[in-house]
Amino acid sequence: MAELKCILWDVDGTLADTERDGHRVAFNMAFDEAGIDRQWDVDTYGELLAVTGGKERIRFDIDRGDMPDMPYETIAGLHARKTIHYQSLIAEGRIPLRPGVRRLLEEAYAQGLTLGISTTTTPAALDALIEHSLGKAWFDRFAVLAAGDIVPAKKPAPDIYNYALQQLAIPAENTLALEDSANGWKSAHAAGLKCVVTINGYTSGHDFDGADLVVSELGEPDGEAIDVLQNPHALHIAHHVELAHLQAIVHG
Ligand SMILES: [Mg+2]
Repeated sequence: MAELKCILWDVDGTLADTERDGHRVAFNMAFDEAGIDRQWDVDTYGELLAVTGGKERIRFDIDRGDMPDMPYETIAGLHARKTIHYQSLIAEGRIPLRPGVRRLLEEAYAQGLTLGISTTTTPAALDALIEHSLGKAWFDRFAVLAAGDIVPAKKPAPDIYNYALQQLAIPAENTLALEDSANGWKSAHAAGLKCVVTINGYTSGHDFDGADLVVSELGEPDGEAIDVLQNPHALHIAHHVELAHLQAIVHG
């Protein structure tokens, strides 16, 4: 019977709905600026989300014939510009946190739990989101910010979670991950973590078989009832996921 000591958060789609209104828009701004005749609509970007990593997504779109071919340096340059556009979208406050995120973070922090980030997004994009959506105080409140190319293998490989756990020196059995996608869930699971999934429009069709809890969002006590899609622990959940639910999942 393990105690919950640490919560590791995915960023894109979990902390905020960054994909549809942030990353996708920023890619299109970079393409437009470079004179590339390609715009990713909401459905197209949904397909590309099966590919992890921004540079990898552009390469995939080229390889399937939907974008003109270009050398790696050009792709890397586009991706760098996209990151800058993304930061300005965040700085303009166009990407708010998902419901319940701030509530759970603050409650967990107040109770002395260790909090960290485990994401494949770039450190620059992560920093911008923390500064403008969460607030600068959170740079000190997160004990680890594991982001980007810090490990060679991206999710669904467990490497980024293993790296975060190693930095924190906290066992996997005392840690819970929050994710929104199948790749994220697989990564956490492969690292030996319990995992709660908050789905979104891009991930609702993913297979989360074996996840410890799957909900439509973390929700708020005074908000609408949330959808509980998988609940193997038979937790009583109505309007919101509570810290006590996360503790019960880790206790097993
Ligand atoms: Mg995600």
